[in-house]
Amino acid sequence: MMSRPKIIYPALFCIVILLTASRPLRAGGTDGLVDETRPLLHTFVQIKAYGTGAAKAVDAAFAEMGRVNDLLNNYDPNSEVSAINTFAGIKPVVLSPETVEALENAKRYGDISGGAFDFTIGPLLKLWGFAKEIPGRRGNEPGEKEIRAAKELVDYRALEISVGQKKGSSVKTGRLLKKGMRIDVGAFSKGFVSDRGMQVLKKHGIHNALIAAGGTICVAGTKPEGEPWQIGIRHPRKNEDMLTMLKLKDTTVSTSGDYERFYNKKGKRRSHIIDPRTGRPVARMQAVTVIAPEGKVSDALSTALFVLGTEDGLALVDTLEGVEALMVDDKGGIFYSRGWPQKVVIY
Ligand code: AMP
Ligand code: MG
Repeated sequence: MMSRPKIIYPALFCIVILLTASRPLRAGGTDGLVDETRPLLHTFVQIKAYGTGAAKAVDAAFAEMGRVNDLLNNYDPNSEVSAINTFAGIKPVVLSPETVEALENAKRYGDISGGAFDFTIGPLLKLWGFAKEIPGRRGNEPGEKEIRAAKELVDYRALEISVGQKKGSSVKTGRLLKKGMRIDVGAFSKGFVSDRGMQVLKKHGIHNALIAAGGTICVAGTKPEGEPWQIGIRHPRKNEDMLTMLKLKDTTVSTSGDYERFYNKKGKRRSHIIDPRTGRPVARMQAVTVIAPEGKVSDALSTALFVLGTEDGLALVDTLEGVEALMVDDKGGIFYSRGWPQKVVIY
């Protein structure tokens, strides 16, 4: 049997600082606040929920998030996404509806970003030393030839989702067309899985809640006193400082940053978001924060915009309903989409 790989915990927690009082609390079944943090999705996931039955609802939400993560996690050899990777170029594998939904959503952001967002980025991540617990690369930077070879294996359009048959019923299957291709869900799984957690909380009658999964935060309703949730966006270079503070209701916010996973090589920062068009780590951005109606949208878009840069990124945001963005370029310049809720920079 294959052994389970070690969970990777990059320094993702606290990309976004919650300014709400954070008491580790588990109030019984009647009303009260439940505030619980568990390791999941290669980070720590915090759920805060208010209302009758909150404790049960939070347990159910964590269970659902764990279940869907087990389908998608490309670091878990037993996941459905790992099965697609293992059988790349060989055969299709049967997928659960959740995996199909997550991958189709990711394909959509591949399309609307013109390929800047590409969930088959795996071979390039490996080449640049990001497919492991501590990022870094032995020896020299990869050469043009190696980059070109890895780029040949990166193309989200080569994921074929089809209808197949299993024991007389119709099922959906997924297949990567070339051997060596590799899906990496890092750019969208936190958002997708957090949405599922929020849906479960709502099914349990919880309408005031927050789910924070690394760089993605989903909020439902308000805090119990009716105040909006307050979320601080950390400055990408000054650890202790905040870029801005948001007051949000019923929305999600995701941040992608070059400070989450990176290494330095000959004085240059090599960060974990790779431009599939050049095959190289993106160097022209420090951070991108996106507000959107759902986690699966904000998470995919924060990564997509990081690759696109300020001009193309903000032009894309303009075409999308209910989406706003704040972008910090490599020189520390701050750019906002037209409807960004507040243009106050706090540091
Ligand atoms: P996020 O923090 O949501 O921006 O996700 C970053 C992660 O997405 C990286 O650590 C990689 O696993 C993956 N990734 C890197 N570059 C890309 C890309 N161009 N498109 C999609 N996923 C990417
Ligand atoms: Mg993302």
